[in-house]
Amino acid sequence: MGILIKGKPVADKIKEKLKKEVAELKEKGITPKLAIIRVGDDPGDMAYERGAIKTMVSVNIETDVRVLSKDISQDEFIKELKSINDDKSVHGILILRPLPDQLDESVIKNVIAPEKDVDCFSPVNVAKVFEGDETGFPPCTPSAVMEILKHYEIPLKGKNAVVIGRSMIVGKPAAMLLLKEHATVTICHSRTKDLPKVASGAELLVVGIGRAKMIDSSYIREGAVVIDVGINVDEDGKLCGDVDTDDCVDKASMITPVPGGVGSVTTSVLAKHVVKACKMQQAL
Ligand code: NDP
Repeated sequence: MGILIKGKPVADKIKEKLKKEVAELKEKGITPKLAIIRVGDDPGDMAYERGAIKTMVSVNIETDVRVLSKDISQDEFIKELKSINDDKSVHGILILRPLPDQLDESVIKNVIAPEKDVDCFSPVNVAKVFEGDETGFPPCTPSAVMEILKHYEIPLKGKNAVVIGRSMIVGKPAAMLLLKEHATVTICHSRTKDLPKVASGAELLVVGIGRAKMIDSSYIREGAVVIDVGINVDEDGKLCGDVDTDDCVDKASMITPVPGGVGSVTTSVLAKHVVKACKMQQAL
């Protein structure tokens, strides 16, 4: 029987450390601050925003939520973003995405200040993930995957890791972060031939595809560590991952649950990135 490896202890440990770091910054008269930019009132965005604020409050990071009209023009959006870029009291900026159609993300990603871009929107931070440059900010979700692997002391050096999914926010950066830790990484996607065969070669399987419970035990190698990034709603309206946890838990050695796995670590990583950004901006 595999062990369910939960996100909460990982998040709690990150937050404990951050509380101390924030207290030290406050002694120097510095309060880390995250600006969240939300366009419109998408319920998913609002849920993530609430979670992010709760985490920031718990570690004494200030938040400044800018809610913009869903009809905002590109020029107005860029004006607002530039004013936050220039605001010295703000250390991190999170833009909730995807943005509405009239806002061109390929333009906006070049406007956000890279040193405040705590969730890897700017191409500068994307490049740093690929270069293995630790002065950047990888996206929070794959960083949360790495925090879980570190917390549960899962060895990565020389291990066969398979990542299913190749998005810029989950799959590709997860693969690069694993590569940096010396895993041998294979990236799979919707055109991969015989996915169960490729996946079942993995000692570590990271899944981020957005297909409820698609990955059953036929994709899992005996004793594999399985990290489920997916967040979906099943036929009964319940939150579930991309992995069929019940079917895989006996075959895996360790497996993250959904909910309660990767998703519960993401906002703690966001807070960690805000504190890192703050320290870098203060040259500390
Ligand atoms: P995308 O839709 O951007 O990417 C999905 C990827 O999965 C694509 O690379 C796609 O392949 C691949 N894929 C889709 N179907 C299959 C299939 N049948 N077989 C193999 N590969 C497939 O999704 P995201 O990366 O944004 O998100 C992935 C999952 O992670 C979602 O469930 C999302 O909700 C969740 N998520 C969770 C977060 C968290 O904090 N826990 C944060 C962000 C996302 P191709 O490129 O060929 O189309």
